[in-house]
Amino acid sequence: MTHTSRYRGRFAPTPSGPLHFGSLVAALGSYLDARAAGGTWLVRIEDIDPPRCPPGSDNTILRQLEAFGLHWDEPVQWQHNHSEAYQQALDQLIAQGLAYPCSCSRKQWQAFSIYPGWCRSGVRDATKPVAWRLRSDLAQRPITWHDRLFGFQQFDPATLGDVVLKRKDQLWAYQLAVVVDDAEQDITDVVRGIDLLDNTPWQCQIQSALGLPTPRYLHLPLIVTAAGQKLSKQNLAPALAEETRGIRRQLFNALQVLDQSPPDTLIEEPPETQLRWATKHWSIAQLSPTAHRRLPQEP
Ligand code: GLU
Repeated sequence: MTHTSRYRGRFAPTPSGPLHFGSLVAALGSYLDARAAGGTWLVRIEDIDPPRCPPGSDNTILRQLEAFGLHWDEPVQWQHNHSEAYQQALDQLIAQGLAYPCSCSRKQWQAFSIYPGWCRSGVRDATKPVAWRLRSDLAQRPITWHDRLFGFQQFDPATLGDVVLKRKDQLWAYQLAVVVDDAEQDITDVVRGIDLLDNTPWQCQIQSALGLPTPRYLHLPLIVTAAGQKLSKQNLAPALAEETRGIRRQLFNALQVLDQSPPDTLIEEPPETQLRWATKHWSIAQLSPTAHRRLPQEP
């Protein structure tokens, strides 16, 4: 795909812990795609869920990105500063009849695979705290878009359910925050893991309801353990290397996992050299559209 002259991309980690190899691959893919297009690359810390974000993880992540040579172009943004913008967006959706309060607990609808929409016609229990949900059944269906790696995508948001926009504990939910911030930061290109592919229909629905542009999407293969699990803190994915040799090897491995076929000699080179080579040679055509990749032997 040829880019238009304007390109703004971002890496948007949730600071639930230090970056691991899987997050490095997402950061690197997003960085290279932006740099190869001569674009701008931003970092946004998605810290809307404080109980999941130990203090200091945001700085750890920024330090890790710098150690891997992944330098960003504009001041880092933190989502915890953006509540007002999220509330405005929610108010707009409420005014359009696209968001509704819901008092139901997960336990009440556990027999269903998605929330059955009981509160759409009015809150069931007015004495309880409420979450705010999206009327996924009122989207212009189906939602379609072209993913730059996985091609034509088609989803009916109603089959995905009325996703939560604001939680009962008043915390903002990812789907709303990501849409508001991508628009606010004028993001033209979202590059992220394929685990978020089926979140995209909700985001497209919210964008169109709020009159915001839909960015281009490139979802990247997910790195999985030998047992096929996504690398995460839950399965104790180790934090990225901190010493010179480890950093070089992991960056090289991340280029390999992205099918960029780096020449062997690059493994001994500092991040700046590896990234210069990779920016020059970045090719999505080489990237195989398979959803999962095994963790390399020595990440
Ligand atoms: N914050 C999300 C995560 O860490 C990624 C958001 C995105 O790239 O849209 O999984």
